Parts: sequence; C-alpha cells; structure tokens
Amino acid sequence: MKIIMLGAPGAGKGTQAKMIAEKYGIPHISTGDIFRANIKNGTELGKEAKTYMDKGLLVPDELTVKLLLDRVAQKDCGNGYVLDGFPRTIPQAEVLDKALSGLGDRIDYAINVDVPDENIINRMSGRRACLSCGATYHLVHIPPKKEGICDNCGQPLVLRDDDKPETVKNRLQVYHEQTQPLIDFYTAKGVLKTVDGTQDMQDVFAAITAILD
Ligand code: ADP
Ligand code: ADP
Ligand code: ZN
Repeated sequence: MKIIMLGAPGAGKGTQAKMIAEKYGIPHISTGDIFRANIKNGTELGKEAKTYMDKGLLVPDELTVKLLLDRVAQKDCGNGYVLDGFPRTIPQAEVLDKALSGLGDRIDYAINVDVPDENIINRMSGRRACLSCGATYHLVHIPPKKEGICDNCGQPLVLRDDDKPETVKNRLQVYHEQTQPLIDFYTAKGVLKTVDGTQDMQDVFAAITAILD
C-alpha cells in the first residue's frame, strides 16, 4: 500500500503517518525528518536545506526529489510506504507519478488531514520534537510522560526553529500557494480522501483506518 499524507504544516500528518506505519507494517518516510537528520549530522545537504527551512520556504525540488526517489527504491519499501511531507509541489508529484508508472505502479491513497489555519498556530507553538528519533509531542494535547523528555529514547525535546510563529505564518502561505494544489491533483486521480484533522488523534486515526482497511 502506497500512501501520501497531505495537509498544512502542523495538521497532524506525522502523528498519523507513524500510526499508519505501525499498524500496516510499512515504513514512514518524512522528508522533513531526513533533512533534520542531515542538519544534525552537518552534511552539505543539511547545510543547504537549513537555509530554506529556517525561512519557512521549501527546499528546492532538485534537492528533494532525488533524495525521495532513492529512499523509496530501498528494499524495505517493497510492500509500500507512507510519505509524510512529500510531495509538496506539483512538479514533485509529477516526478513521483512518472517514476511509479514506469514500474506499473501508483499511489493508492492521498489522505488529506484537514485543519483550518486558525488551529495551526496553536498546534505549532505547542509542538515539541525529538531530533534523535523523530517523535513528536504537544505540550497540551499529547504530552510526553516526563516533561521535556522523549518517551521513546530519553533525549531532550525541543521547539523546532521553524515552529516559531513568524516562520509558521510563512509556511502556511507557502502551503496554500505550492502544496494545496495537490488536493486537486490527487482528486483528479481518484485517490484523494479527506479526514477532519481537528478531532482527537485517535478519532482521526479511526477515520483513516476506515478508509485503508
Ligand atoms: P511539517 O511536518 O511541520 O509540515 P516537515 O518536517 O514536513 O514540517 O518539513 C519541514 C521543512 O522541511 C519544510 O518547511 C521545508 O522547508 C522542508 N521540506 C520537507 N519536505 C519537503 C519537500 N517535499 N519539498 C521541499 N521542502 C521540504
Ligand atoms: P505535521 O506532521 O502535519 O506537521 P504533527 O503530526 O507534527 O503535524 O502535529 C503537529 C502538532 O500537533 C504536534 O505537536 C502534535 O503532537 C499535535 N497533534 C497532532 N495530532 C493532533 C490532534 N489530533 N489533536 C491535537 N494535537 C495534535
Ligand atoms: Zn526520541
């Protein structure tokens, strides 16, 4: 099963993608996590990506597409995957579509996690991330067991640089301009499913599994 998560920054794509990956036994692939791992390790790719991410802009397609195509070509993707944060532009979606159709394959579901802009700033300001294992929490809605510490790996949680309100505003604008058109793109392909992302995490997940099962 090949799944794409669509939705604004902070809509809950990553939270749901991790639950989908676990339930269906497929890898969760987040381009944002891959970029953050590169930043943490000080790679050239990380240095370049950071200049865009810090401003709330998208990393250029040339850097992003190859990374993603290499990742989905790996062995563990044989039974499918859930993509979180890719594609984010029409050209990215077209490249993925071409690569898949070249293999006689296609995306099965594009799940649009729908959350209005008004809720996004709250989601983002309360988000706390573990840069070691990629886990995500929310100060109020999804707190870790021990304040400031990742449940999974015990590392300290941080407010991401790009989750500050000024940058979030830019990211929302970029979302509406460059990523939202993908909703029409996948609707036209007949694979778009929209779920109400303002519900509790478990209720959102129930809506998603009702689609996938
Ligand atoms: P969020 O989950 O909050 O939407 P991500 O972790 O997916 O954030 O992405 C963080 C940043 O990484 C984005 O704002 C963007 O700069 C960069 N990024 C991630 N995926 C892509 C992509 N597919 N294309 C371009 N930039 C990307
Ligand atoms: P995205 O990957 O779309 O940027 P995340 O999954 O990182 O979004 O979620 C953004 C923030 O909102 C995180 O702090 C997360 O813990 C929290 N969150 C996710 N789903 C819900 C939900 N259904 N209700 C309330 N908060 C949520
Ligand atoms: Zn962790």
